[in-house]
Amino acid sequence: ALMITDECINCDVCEPECPNQAISMGEEHYEIEPSKCTECVGHFDEPQCVAICPVACIPVDPAHKEDRETLWQKFERLRAAQ
Ligand code: SF4
Ligand code: SF4
Repeated sequence: ALMITDECINCDVCEPECPNQAISMGEEHYEIEPSKCTECVGHFDEPQCVAICPVACIPVDPAHKEDRETLWQKFERLRAAQ
């Protein structure tokens, strides 16, 4: 999963781009729910939030590092739950 750092300027553009509805406003800035973020695996070739963020504040979450296979499995779980 990816994460949003405190460099986020709350510009709102990433939230509607997320195919998994993983992004929402937190207490001080936007946040990513790790259980919903597939790093866009299953939907797009690159993370859509990273592609659109004007301040490059969306790195990999060091607490939720996942390989591509794990991200695929998360995508399948999320799809099955819909
Ligand atoms: Fe959503 Fe993709 Fe960004 Fe994860 S990488 S928060 S799935 S847009
Ligand atoms: Fe924050 Fe970047 Fe999302 Fe804008 S696009 S709300 S700066 S994380």
